[in-house]
Amino acid sequence: MRVLITGGAGFLGSHLCDYLLERGHEVICMDNLITGSTANIAHLAGHERFLFIKHDVTNYIFIEGQLDAVLHFASPASPIDYLEYPIQTLKVGALGTHKALGLAKDKKARFLLASTSEVYGDPLVHPQREDYWGNVNPIGPRGVYDEAKRFAEAMTMAYHRAHGVDTRIARIFNTYGPRMRLNDGRVVPNFIAQALRGEPLTVFGDGSQTRSFCYVSDLIEGIYRLLESDVTEPVNLGNPEEMSILEFAHKIIALSGSRSSVVLVQPQDARVRDDPKMRRPDITRARTLLGWQPQVSLEEGLRRTIEWFRTRI
Ligand code: UDP
Repeated sequence: MRVLITGGAGFLGSHLCDYLLERGHEVICMDNLITGSTANIAHLAGHERFLFIKHDVTNYIFIEGQLDAVLHFASPASPIDYLEYPIQTLKVGALGTHKALGLAKDKKARFLLASTSEVYGDPLVHPQREDYWGNVNPIGPRGVYDEAKRFAEAMTMAYHRAHGVDTRIARIFNTYGPRMRLNDGRVVPNFIAQALRGEPLTVFGDGSQTRSFCYVSDLIEGIYRLLESDVTEPVNLGNPEEMSILEFAHKIIALSGSRSSVVLVQPQDARVRDDPKMRRPDITRARTLLGWQPQVSLEEGLRRTIEWFRTRI
């Protein structure tokens, strides 16, 4: 396949580049580098089946020659990133998805949207199944991301229904691993950096909110299986092992051999407004339709991630 990955220099995008190249595909990686980084793809420079194009996909995308798949992964994806880039986040989800779909239609390429568990908002149904419509505050600080991704899903289904584009929608739950930005503000890099520096781990609120963390290699395998499948309905991809953020903090302290303590903090800012109180994917659909489920345990995944961060702190 000849594949375009938008957001290809980001955390997930760059792992996807590696995965596809290893399987013999040709990869065009596109990124405007506002949250992505060339450091994530530096090892691919000079690879004969790899091409990097710096471009903002909210503008018309031109690719010469045929394409078999467009994987649309471009977007700020951590709460502090989309709080810093609210307009860009809305634009890449809306205009960027439109451009990427237009390209897929033109090239008769398969299209895969990287959607998110944030489409469920602060969910009132637990665990979250794909047929749950969500509970999103459109005008809250997270609304810029959540609504952009909800619009992107709607646009994807419209291109599928109206133009017959062969589309896929992955609803990606919290994923972690090497190449997360140390300062992207998410809980995994924050806690690991704090643990390795011997600083207190900052648990927001009372720490009873839950998340379920998926190791990046599992997630990428799920994306590939979805791409290869014929499933046009959205599919949750994530690890159903759920825990409270407080528990998670203690796990990171133990696994990193740190002497850090845990502090409960109440940020008076947008980072915690509308913070989902619980999140866990129901992955029945992925299990039955893709034969996929996570293989890497949280302990193993965190060990690998901690080792990666250790060399960078
Ligand atoms: N969180 C925390 N301390 C931090 C960063 C995040 O307690 O230093 C919490 C945050 O309030 C949320 C959870 O960890 O409940 C996951 O946050 P993250 O930013 O990783 O992603 P989200 O799942 O909210 O998109």
